[in-house]
Amino acid sequence: MTVTARTILITGGSRGIGRATALLAGQAGWNVAVNYRTDNTAARQTADEIEGLGARAITVQGDVTDSGAVDAMFDATLQAFGTLDAVVVNAGIVAPASPLAEMSDERLRRVVETNILGAFYCARAAARHLPRPMDRPSGALVLLSSAAARLGSPNEYVDYAASKGAIDTLTLGLSKELAAQNVRVNAVRPGIIDTDIHASGGEPDRINRIAPLVPLQRAGTAMETAEAVFWLCTDAASYVTGAHLDVAGGR
Ligand code: NAP
Repeated sequence: MTVTARTILITGGSRGIGRATALLAGQAGWNVAVNYRTDNTAARQTADEIEGLGARAITVQGDVTDSGAVDAMFDATLQAFGTLDAVVVNAGIVAPASPLAEMSDERLRRVVETNILGAFYCARAAARHLPRPMDRPSGALVLLSSAAARLGSPNEYVDYAASKGAIDTLTLGLSKELAAQNVRVNAVRPGIIDTDIHASGGEPDRINRIAPLVPLQRAGTAMETAEAVFWLCTDAASYVTGAHLDVAGGR
């Protein structure tokens, strides 16, 4: 009997948590669609590593703030692999630390557009493509929230924290909306994780500043986070939906 490989689409799969999730999926033999916005070389490198593991991978350029580009990345994935079983809504940004009173219109718009609207476009496309009969393994949607959603990030990123609060609420509602269509919807809430996102927010050394505040006394790795993300995509999590899974070292 031929077993068809499962397919996963990961937004922002070129680096950090998205890339680590892509590698785990490839290791498990899944077909992987690696979305990225700007860094084609990094996305290609992730795809090459997956192919080196013996799985299939494509790169799909597309900015999640563009609903047409989001729909096109789903179409490209289906065209390449013929199936879609899991979607990881991972692409997200932070902006330099600042109190709300000093945040510009442009910054607020960028954070909200990427982290909320972009996630909604991706979740909507997933809601259109993942439903399946109840007698098949469930489809899975995993959204990257943040511990910031419950910490609030005062004087740093209340915009970012609130955008992740929206992800938590979307996860709750959509999990109930899609359960009867055999789609599980969960969120992972990482704490401080060692990736490039902190440099892109203007503080490359942020993990060293925050690590002493973490009960486990260190930042997490992208791979430690990806383990939780990919687990939620698999049948091992077949009875888990509507969950907010903290991967935050106890913080
Ligand atoms: P990262 O290293 O900065 O990687 C971000 C990824 O998202 C990159 O692949 C980037 O692609 C892509 N991306 C950014 N904007 C995009 C857009 N508009 N359209 C498509 N792709 C876009 O980030 P990370 O640390 O792995 O974070 C991944 C997720 O986890 C984010 O949602 C973040 O908020 C969340 N999270 C991270 C931490 C942490 O401490 N690292 C903590 C809590 C939550 P390009 O490079 O091509 O632009």
